[in-house]
Amino acid sequence: MKKVISRIISAGLIFCMVGAMAGCSKSEETTKATTKATTTAGESQTDSQADSQAETTAAEKFTLQDGKLIMATNAYFQPYEYYEGDKIVGIDAEIAEAIAKKLGLELQIMDVEFDSIVAGVQSKKYDFGMAGMTVTEDRKESVNFSSTYATGIQAVIVKEDSPIKDVDALLAGDYKVGVQTGTTGDIYMSSSPDDGGVGEDRVVRYSKGGDAVLALAAGKIDAVVIDNEPAKSFVEANEGLKVMETPYAVEDYAMAINKENTVLLEKINAALKELTDDGTIPAIIEKYIPSKG
Ligand code: GLN
Repeated sequence: MKKVISRIISAGLIFCMVGAMAGCSKSEETTKATTKATTTAGESQTDSQADSQAETTAAEKFTLQDGKLIMATNAYFQPYEYYEGDKIVGIDAEIAEAIAKKLGLELQIMDVEFDSIVAGVQSKKYDFGMAGMTVTEDRKESVNFSSTYATGIQAVIVKEDSPIKDVDALLAGDYKVGVQTGTTGDIYMSSSPDDGGVGEDRVVRYSKGGDAVLALAAGKIDAVVIDNEPAKSFVEANEGLKVMETPYAVEDYAMAINKENTVLLEKINAALKELTDDGTIPAIIEKYIPSKG
């Protein structure tokens, strides 16, 4: 277990093992955005002013398509993003909509495979990715992350009559673990037992979390490691399953933005702050995840 903690902490993730929840604190993913120089009134037209004007013009175009804000998600992740009829709704969809409104842009949501989101943001297919996405050191090498807007928990789903009683038993046994491809559940579980995973041989990958849960219900695998809120929805929808009380890890969710687009990063962070301060984001989260009492 110690190795698990050191591996994940060294990766810069906020992480709590079973029984160590009390020591958890949230990380602040504050990426400094550069502010473009602007021209000063009354200055004579110099090369530097011309450069500065060019930069200002470039800075104004901070989305891929004029007037639009293109978001990539994977819409099978209730309550963050899921379909209601043919509309994608959920916490991420509503927060993104509120941000787009603040920026005077029309939000367009694209439903893609989860593990293609970071690459698509990097290659400028989408303005940003928002998919209950955990901030990780690896992903930070490819994209910038906005401030954190929610906390996620990696949970374990098992059958109600499962012999697997806790995370230690899951790791120690010879159990097959289902994950959604490319998620942190996949990354943790695929790592070696010395690093707190079960190793590649015991991991079964599915492109949708729901497919992993169906495989568990059908007895093809022994457990599923997935984010806690979708885990609860999956368990509600499939009889005979339960979410283990002890979580595997605690994480921060944020929006992924192209590293070159510091203007968008800055605007999104400002919008997130305003929407948090004025109670909009807390209300959206409360609507989908009502707090007890
Ligand atoms: N939070 C997990 C991750 O970022 C899973 C996200 C998801 O499946 N949409 O890897």
